[in-house]
Order: sequence, then C-alpha cells, then structure tokens
Amino acid sequence: MTNHDLAELIFPNITKTIADYEEMYPKRDLAEGAKVTRYAPSPTGFMHIGNFLSAVIDYVLAKNSEGVFFLRNEDTDKAREVENAVESIMKILSDYDIYPDEYEYSNTIKGEYGPYIQSERKEIYHTFIKHLIEIGRAYPCFCSKETLEDIRKNQELDKERTGYYGDYAFCRQLTIEEQIQKIKAGIPYVIRFKSSGDFNKKFVFDDLVKGKIELPENDQDIPIMKSDNLLPTYHFAHLVDDYLMRTTHVVRGEEWLSSVPIHIDLFKAFGFKPPKYIHIPLILKKDEETGNARKISKRKDKEASMKYYEEKGYPPLAVIEAIMTIANSNYEEWHQNHLDLKFTDFPFSPKKMSSSGAYFDLEKLDNISKNYISTLKKEEVYDSVLSWAKKYDPSFHELLLKEPLRSVYIFNIEREQKKPRKDFVNWSSVKEQIAYLYDEYFFLDWEKTYQELTEKEDVQLLKEYAKIYQEFETEDEWFTQIKHFAEENNYAPSPKMYKEDPTLYKGHVGMICESLRHVVTGRKESPNLFQILKIIGQKGLLQRIEFYEKGLK
Ligand code: GLU
Repeated sequence: MTNHDLAELIFPNITKTIADYEEMYPKRDLAEGAKVTRYAPSPTGFMHIGNFLSAVIDYVLAKNSEGVFFLRNEDTDKAREVENAVESIMKILSDYDIYPDEYEYSNTIKGEYGPYIQSERKEIYHTFIKHLIEIGRAYPCFCSKETLEDIRKNQELDKERTGYYGDYAFCRQLTIEEQIQKIKAGIPYVIRFKSSGDFNKKFVFDDLVKGKIELPENDQDIPIMKSDNLLPTYHFAHLVDDYLMRTTHVVRGEEWLSSVPIHIDLFKAFGFKPPKYIHIPLILKKDEETGNARKISKRKDKEASMKYYEEKGYPPLAVIEAIMTIANSNYEEWHQNHLDLKFTDFPFSPKKMSSSGAYFDLEKLDNISKNYISTLKKEEVYDSVLSWAKKYDPSFHELLLKEPLRSVYIFNIEREQKKPRKDFVNWSSVKEQIAYLYDEYFFLDWEKTYQELTEKEDVQLLKEYAKIYQEFETEDEWFTQIKHFAEENNYAPSPKMYKEDPTLYKGHVGMICESLRHVVTGRKESPNLFQILKIIGQKGLLQRIEFYEKGLK
C-alpha cells in the first residue's frame, strides 16, 4: 500500500491536478508592481471596523497600483453564516465608493479567478489535499475530541507546549495499512498537514507593517480538512485561494500574525512563493471608565460595527478620512493638500502604520465630519439628510419632502460663507439643530420649546415689532430698521450707548434681538437671526409671539 492508494481511497473522484488549476488560473496579466488584494470576510452579517479598515487598505493598494481588488466569501463555518451577508457587505462597501473588481453573490459572478465562495471550491481544495497525501505531507487523523483533550491535559501537566506535534501527533505514526483500515471501518477523521518544521528553529519573517520579525518554525500538524463538511480550515483555504487567485498582498488583522509560521510551512510544502503580508494593528479606544487604551469590542462598543456609522448618518467621506488617518497618520495633511484627489490616490505606506495598535476616537470622527459637512453646498446637505431620514426618521423625511425650498433655505443659514456653521455632526444630529424652524415641531409642546425660559420677555414690545417687520434684502437694512424701532421704544440703538448711561434707556437693541431670538426659536442661542426671521416671515413671527404669550402662566 502506498500514499497513492490512500489518496485514491479518500478522494476517488478527484481527477484534476494542481497543474490543471495553475493553467486555469494563470498569473494575472498586470503591469509591473500592480497589487492584487482581497477582502475575505466570513459571512456573519457583521462588519467590524477592523474588517473595514483592512478592506479600505486593500482597495487603496489595488487602485493605487492599477491592480485588482476582489472579494472572497469565506463561508467554511456554516454554523455562523447568515443569509445575504455578502449583499450587505457589498452594500456597505458601495456606500463608501468601494467596488471590488471581482466577486460572487446572488448567482452573479464577476472575474476569471472564481468561484469566490469557499464552499464552492471543495473540488479545488481536495485536489491540493490529495497532492499532499500523495507526497506524504498530509494524513488522516482519527483522534476523537476526547483524545485531543487528554493530550492537551497531559501536556499542561508536564508543562509542555500544547498541540498536535512531534510524538504527540499519534496518527502520524499509523501505517498506511492502518489508516486505510480505519477509513474502511468508517471511523471519522480529519486530514492533517504533516509539518516538517522545528519549533526550536527560528526564521525571519518580513511583515510590511512590523518589519522583520523572528518567529519559531511551525511544527504543528494542523487540521487542513474538517471531518463533517469536508471543507478546509482557514489556513489551508488561505494557501489554496491566495495562490490560485494570485493575491500579491494579504491584508489582515494582527490576530493572524501568530499563524504565519503555519502558512509559511504550508507554502513551502507546495513549493509556492507566499504573498506579502500586511498585518494591521488592533483598533483601540480609550476606555470610558478606566481611561486606558483597550481593543474596540464587538460586544461592548457600538462603534465597532459599521452599521453604527450608517445609522448615525456620518458622511462616508468623513468616515473614510477617519479610517485613513488610522492607516497612515499623515493622511489628513495629504488630503488637505490634495482636495481634488480621491482617497484611493493616497500613497499608503504600510511601514507608516502604527504597529502596536491604532487609536480610533469618535470625537475625532465628529470633528472631521463637522468640518466636512460645513464645506457642503446647501443642496448636498438637503439631499443627504433626506436620504438618511428616509430610512431612519420617516416623519422628518416627509416634512423635508413637503417643504424642499424652506429646507434648503434652512440648510443655507450660515453656510457657503467664510466661516460656515459647524453644528451638524452627522445627519442624525441635524433635526435637533433645526427642528424649531418647522412649525410642526415648534408648536408641539410649549414646555419643550421654551426649555430655557428664565425671565419673561416683553410680549407687547415684540408684537409692536412684528407689526413693522419687513423682509429686507440685506442684513444691514434689517438692522437699521430694528435700531430705529429700538430708539422709538426707548431702547438704545447700540449696547455702547446704553452702557454710557443706562438710566436713559429701558435697554438696548441687542436685548430686543435676544428676546426675539428666544421667543422665535425657543433658544437663547441660534444661528443668524436675520435669516431665521426671513424663513419664518411676518405671519410666523406673530404666531410664535402669540404661542409664547399663551404659554406664560
Ligand atoms: N475570513 C477571515 C476573517 O474574517 C479572513 C482573514 C484574512 O483576511 O485572511 O478573519
């Protein structure tokens, strides 16, 4: 009996060879230096901000070098899979203007290097495993869960390294006859890789972020094919897929760094050149309670999920800027100097990435977002708020649709000027800032509208003003009129004059404006009063004064 007999027994229907696949998926015809990257999510329906960071880096590397960026669905863990996960991943990516060149979902396949869904690649994996068995570098392992558990316990007792290696790799010792006999007897098995490494030897690995690091060789006989669904483990699928899909750069989370020795060992067994690796650091945040840096947690932190940014209505470009700043801290400066370029033009450098952990700070994102929104045109703001509200605030959406002109005018208050307003942090924060300008919200509840009531305003005086109010073209004309009105009612036309001798006046023009602001907006502070009055108009002004008056006890 030979390895060949064993391989034939396990994979009787596999007739193709590795060479056949190499021919089917030849080296990509790309320009020198073009990078081939991939985003390889597990379809669990949750995109972690760390996954997103890696997808952005993948995309930038590929686009920047006229390379290829593809999406591979790593669905070998069928228990965790959720429906339509790839659709929702594609949707999130497209919200950020990220479009994989190759992908597969809902019966659509784009690209020549697929299938791009791991569960559809079984035959390919089996071909590669069959080859390993034939060359004596893989074998069936019949150890039960309990046996493996016993091995581990003994290793712990003996203070030995845990795992399936060396003399602990029991099934490695079986003869081919014994292996064949057990398979024929129907004993379940996994296929393990037969490592040739020596844990006591070190090798130098060049990670593009961390630089050269010394790692021990792998000597673990890791499982490469699972027993239940005959699908490969992550390590083996990584080897096969990234080899055949001709990936040049693997961008993935730092948690995979400790698996590098396994991957190098596998690539060596096949005589393939491994891709370059970019292990991206953990994303950290400052813990609210302790103030210490800690990993952003899927369980504890809302901002761990990419869904959060959509729900809050952060403009995608603001999120991209915050993310790119984690990737390379000089991004912001580059962006300011290249406002006409896209983020994909940024010369990302893995070396400039923090190798110990990267801070992501929501406050920073808020600042980026506020600044970004302040540069948008009124119509752009209107469109963005409208589409956000459509999904997350239907009644506000309806109102915006009903009053497009008023809304665009509102969004223009203190916009498109040298120092534009910066109180819109994201689309979900807009309503709170402008609701008082819509009668539908203003007249809802007196107590809520006038939360800041400390002293009563002079309603009679404001009514007199409402009578003479006119819609002037310029703020100067408007202010000249209100100054006259002040004087006629015994208020100084400037705070300065009032200060010179307060006994001469009831107050000054600024005080009338403050009263007006309060009664008309319900707030002590608001953007430009002249523009607000223009939106409300004379009728609205009077209605608001009367509403205020009615509520006074
Ligand atoms: N499916 C793996 C994960 O989601 C991908 C890691 C990789 O990019 O290789 O963690």
